Amino acid sequence: MNIQSLSVCVPAKRCINDCVFCCSKMHTADYDDRFTDVCSYSFYADDLRKRLAYARENGCNTCMLTGNNEPQQNREFLRVFSEINKHLPSPFLNIEMQTSGAFIDEEFLDFFKNSVGLTTVAVSVACLDDDEANREMIRTKDMRLCLASFCKAVKRRNMNLRICLNMNDGILAHHAFTPRSVVDLCGALGADQITFRALWAPDADTPQGEWISRHVTGTTTGFIEALKQDIKARGRYLDTLEYGADRYDYEGFSVVVDEDSMSQEAQKTAVKYLILRPNGHLYSKWDSKASLIF
Ligand code: SF4
Repeated sequence: MNIQSLSVCVPAKRCINDCVFCCSKMHTADYDDRFTDVCSYSFYADDLRKRLAYARENGCNTCMLTGNNEPQQNREFLRVFSEINKHLPSPFLNIEMQTSGAFIDEEFLDFFKNSVGLTTVAVSVACLDDDEANREMIRTKDMRLCLASFCKAVKRRNMNLRICLNMNDGILAHHAFTPRSVVDLCGALGADQITFRALWAPDADTPQGEWISRHVTGTTTGFIEALKQDIKARGRYLDTLEYGADRYDYEGFSVVVDEDSMSQEAQKTAVKYLILRPNGHLYSKWDSKASLIF
């Protein structure tokens, strides 16, 4: 089995944001938080070490810090993760983090780079050209969250910057809704990589599903179709990522159109993508407890 990517869910009680489209809230599978509530800390640390080592020994090179919350919410977990990783026979060198950037200041970024070993920051964005609209859609309490400042601070530390666009009709507030505008704005922010993420609503009866059905209309789907055509016409295929999406060189950026953020497609033949839950166990699917590996 060749595992290409490991997502580590950083435990926290609840997310500091409350994104209107949050898919975690549409899939409320409960996984015990064995890090915070553990009866024996050494048991948990050993469980974590075994799963990280298992992923590495099966060829996994990329570790993504993520979760049903923001990774920056649990600094102590990040410290423990980092200590365990450093002492693996072959530590993860490529460590990524998915975040909105909320409440991450300069000192926190130094901690991520120097102590955790973070190499890529994947910034999750709901509105690209209006911070107030972005903050409103992710319903963050960080009223100072500013995309340009955050991206600049990431680039100043020589980390890779991936801009992950949660595609909705309001992704651009002040510019024409065209691939050119989006790519230019991401370029101005210093992006190395751009991911266009199609928002997914399996259950339209949830508040998140209802929001998606109102704000992801033909405008957005039309944009994604036009973008895909343009990428195929003018971009250059680079490779296929672990969850099955193709990556292209498009206008000098590494670009991915992710229409399968729940990883439904890629695992029909083999386990390629693992998730380490806060209970310290490994799974192969986001939406199935039955996908337990061990
Ligand atoms: S930051 Fe992520 S987990 Fe938190 S509310 Fe937004 S989408 Fe959900």
